[in-house]
Order: sequence, then structure tokens, then C-alpha cells
Amino acid sequence: MAAVTAHDATRALSSSTLTVKLGRPRGEPDQPLNEPLVMASTYVAGGDLEYGRYGNQTWRAFEDVVGALEGGRALSFASGMAAIATVLDLVAPGETVVAPRHCYQGTLAHLATLAQRDGIKVVAVDVDDTAQVQAALVDDVALLWLESPTNPALEVADIATLCHSAHGVGARVVVDNTFATPLVQRPLTLGADVVVHSGTKYISGHSDVMIGLVVTSDDEIYGAVDGARRTRGAIPGTLEAWLALRGLRTLHLRVERAHANAAALVARLDEHPAVERVRYPGFGAIIAVEVAGGAAAADLFTRSTSLWVHATSLGGVESSLERRRRWAGEPRTIPESLVRLSVGIEDVEDLWHDLSGALDQTLG
Ligand SMILES: *Cc1c(COP(=O)(O)O)cnc(C)c1O
Repeated sequence: MAAVTAHDATRALSSSTLTVKLGRPRGEPDQPLNEPLVMASTYVAGGDLEYGRYGNQTWRAFEDVVGALEGGRALSFASGMAAIATVLDLVAPGETVVAPRHCYQGTLAHLATLAQRDGIKVVAVDVDDTAQVQAALVDDVALLWLESPTNPALEVADIATLCHSAHGVGARVVVDNTFATPLVQRPLTLGADVVVHSGTKYISGHSDVMIGLVVTSDDEIYGAVDGARRTRGAIPGTLEAWLALRGLRTLHLRVERAHANAAALVARLDEHPAVERVRYPGFGAIIAVEVAGGAAAADLFTRSTSLWVHATSLGGVESSLERRRRWAGEPRTIPESLVRLSVGIEDVEDLWHDLSGALDQTLG
């Protein structure tokens, strides 16, 4: 019988177990169970870290877990946008990027900057319309950028089909997997070349950290992204990486509870007279509702909750909501009355009581 190596044993474990098990010091006497917070700007020469901008043991522990969950190698960054900008900056001047019409507004803003500065051509598509995206994938396209579900319109892309089409014209595919998390969707296994995350959201999960990630199994891309991180220095703080890993340990529990809460709330929101439309892709913990009565009613709704926090961002243990069009950078095709709900892990009856009470206010 062939010996089972430690590596094989690890590969057979489920993602919940990997989330808890990986990224820890060697299990030797008197080693701590958790990777310590390593505060270091420099290291004794001769190893593979050398300098604090090039690497850090605490980042590595965090990166090892995210890399294993996504099925690639991860590099952490100072924020989701630092990770996203680093990947987008690999596009050469004059090249074409196909990107979602609706996606994280920071991504859209950076693409607009690249269009102006480097003459990059950006072709906007509705990512839930597979034929439309395929039609945009012509020979000179260098990159297909996907976000699925999209923020905040919650459109879902057929990642596997679109990766196949993109590769057919020689384009690379990046997927922003922030909303789904690697527990729900693993884009690298569906053919994507790169995954990016705002680790600020579900991965950290407690609204107290900013961090980002790039994950890839392509050695050339990994090298380019690592090189850019070394020279541009958009590195995470050590404490941030430590907190993010601590939060990540419970990702599966938080996601399970938040998804169950979201599904229960969607059914009730659908019935509420103050709600014109509910968007929910059938998974995840983000819901978008369009409130009857336009922006004013939506603003009243967001001001009228007491348990739900009126705040931007998402993916924390606490439920929060905001009207996205209050931001000038949000695309004009996002309805004025759209309120994005980030469902947390509180008791669902408490959440519904507060939410339905606030919706009732808008009926006057
Ligand atoms: C928040 C967010 C980002 C940006 O991440 P930061 O950590 O805020 O820089 C990128 N993509 C999506 C989908 C997000 O929700």
C-alpha cells in the first residue's frame, strides 16, 4: 500500500477544515498554535524573506490559507483596491479590457484612470448576458474582468463558459470573488487565471481590517504581482494580516449563518408592500432591494433601522445597509432607490422585526 504523504492528506480535507487547520506554525513542543504577530522590517540575511516589504511570516500564514481555499498561491495587499490596481496595472498601454458595466466602483474608477493615462480601451458588458460578453471577446482583448455576483446589482456570470471563450481569443480572466467567497465559488477551478478579493469583507468578517488578496496558479502572473508588490510597496500591515487570519478561521460558520438569514429575509422582503424589487442570486448574504418611492423613501428606510447599521461596506458579522447611489461614483444605471443589505449573523427574527419596521416607515 502506498504511503499517504502529509500533502495528500491535506488535499483530501474539506474547505472548512482547511480554514481551521492551515497557516499555523509546525506542531512541535512549545510552538504556539497560531502564527505570532511578526513585527519586522528586516531579517537576518540568507533566507527568502530578507526585508519587510518582500515578505512576512504572519502574511504568509494568512496567504497559505486563502491560497489553499482558492486553489492557487495568494499574495496579500494593503486593501482590496491595492490588489485590484496591481493586477489591472499589468495591462499594457493600448490593450483592451472587457469589464462589467456594474461592479465595485473603485475598480471602475481605476479602469477609467487607465483609459485616460495609458489609452487602455475598456468595453463595458452586462456579465449576466453570456452572449453579450462573448460578442465583446474579440482577438485584441487582453483581459476579461469579472465580478460575480456584481456589486451591487447582484448579476451572476457564467464563469466557466466565459473563461473558455476568453481563452479562445487569448485573453486572461480575473474574477473578483469578494461576494461569493471561496467557500461558494472557486474561480480558478472554473478556468480563471486570477482571483482577487477585498479581504476587508467576508474573509476578515468583523469590519475592523482592510486587506486585499491576489490568488493565482500561474507562475508568471504570480511573479509579476509579487514583483509589483515589492517595488510599489502596497503591503498589508502585520496586525491586519493577523486579524484577517483570525477572522478567516470562522468564515464557514459566518457564511453559513449569514446565507441562511439572507434566504429567510428574501422570502419576506418579496411580500413587503414597500419593496418594488428584490435582487438575490440564490446564494450569498447580500440582497439588493428597490424601495417604492425612490431615493427619498430609500433614504428614510436606511435612517429608520436601529439594529441594522447604516454604513457602507459589507461582509461583517453585523447587518448593515446603504443606498448605493448616495455615492457619486456609482453607475447611473444602478436605480436611485436601490438599497444594498449586507446580512449578518444576528437572530433572523430580530433582523426582520427591525427591517420591516423601517420599511413600514416609508409607507407613511
Ligand atoms: C470592497 C470591495 C472592493 C475593494 O476592496 P477594499 O478592501 O475596500 O479596497 C473590491 N471589490 C469588491 C467586490 C468589494 O466589495
